[in-house]
This record gives sequence, C-alpha cells and structure tokens, in this order.
Amino acid sequence: MKERPGTPVALVPRPVDRADPAQTLARDGIASLDELKAQTMRCRECPIGEFATQSVVGEGDVHAKLMLVGEQPGDQEDLQGHPFIGPAGKLLARALEAAGIAREHVFVSNAVKHFKFELRGKRRIHKSPTHREAAACLHWLEDEIALVQPAALVALGATAARSLLGRAVPVTAERGKWLPRADGREVLVTLHPSALLRVDSERRGAAFEAFVADLRQAKRLVRGG
Ligand code: SF4
Repeated sequence: MKERPGTPVALVPRPVDRADPAQTLARDGIASLDELKAQTMRCRECPIGEFATQSVVGEGDVHAKLMLVGEQPGDQEDLQGHPFIGPAGKLLARALEAAGIAREHVFVSNAVKHFKFELRGKRRIHKSPTHREAAACLHWLEDEIALVQPAALVALGATAARSLLGRAVPVTAERGKWLPRADGREVLVTLHPSALLRVDSERRGAAFEAFVADLRQAKRLVRGG
C-alpha cells in the first residue's frame, strides 16, 4: 500500500544556493519553464508528488519584475494545472486589481509544486507541506526565480516566506515589510489569500483592505503601476 502524503520519510533536499539562483538552475539543468513543468511532473523527491494529479508551476509574465509566491496548488489548481485559479486565487486577483497591479504583468507561483491533501470522504482537504517537504521543493522554486529573474518577490504566507528567506518568518508581525534575501532581492511579506477566506464576515472587509495595502507597496515594480 502506498504511503499517504505527509508520511515521514528520510528526505534529503537537493542543495540550493539562495544567494545565486542561477547556480541551482545550472545544477538542475533546466532551460525553460516547460522543462521545469516536465521535470516536476516526474519529481518524487518528497511524498506529495505521488498523490497529486500533476505538478503546477508558475504562470504569468515570464519577464515580470514582480513574482508572487504562495504555498502550494489547491484542489482546482491540481486538477487544471494552473496556479491560483481556485477561491484563493480569485481573491488574490481581486486584491491585485484593487492594488492597481495587473495580474498579467506579474508572475505567480508556489513554494511547493504538488498539491498535498488528506481525504475526508470524497473530499480532498488541503494539508500544509512540512518544512522538509518545502525544503525538498525549494530547488524548483529557485529555478523559477532564476528563469524569471524578478526584481522583487511577494511571499504569500509563512511557507513561501520561509522558502524564500531561509528562516521562519512570523507573518502577522512582519506583514507589509520588505525583507532582504541572500541574492539581494527584497521580499514583501503578507498573508496567503486563503487566510482571508477564513476570516469571519464582520472582519472580512477590513482584512481584505489590509491585504490590498500590503500588495500596493509592490505596485511601483509593475508595468503601469
Ligand atoms: S512537491 Fe516538490 S519536491 Fe515534492 S514531489 Fe512535488 S515537485 Fe518534487
């Protein structure tokens, strides 16, 4: 019987050079996003890939100055193969528009390339990747950064912040701040849009406005911003 996602295994993440993502890209031998998709489709470097429908890599403007990074694909993203198309993605699209950032001028991706879930009846419920699973997937994320070469990044939530910055980041305390990465790029830390979907209806409007205010800080990096 196959192990379920999240079953502890001895993961040995590939080496990553956050100070120079091009080194990671050269080591992985990836030349394009299509190749990244093909390689992540086959990847089984952590247990998550075995149970997902497909890998989901980033999409958007491949020459974007701004790259947004979430946690992992969700149910819809896993089925359709595109990032940020489910409920959280729709909320992100509304927030970007409210912040004056054209979604087609940014690149959106995730720290982890396969959907991790647990089955409840027939429903697939999102399960957060462990630190080791995110670490196993980090070299693919660094490959994407090397391919797109954004000037700056937005970390949507704690998993993305940890992957991009190499340390745990208390997102509630640090949100709205630009934090430096080892490669010199700045990372704007904010919540993952799925967190806003869990906010009760009385506070949802204020939470959305605060999210937009965070994103607005990155507007200057985007064409037309
Ligand atoms: S989640 Fe990442 S490391 Fe794990 S199998 Fe998928 S691509 Fe590989």
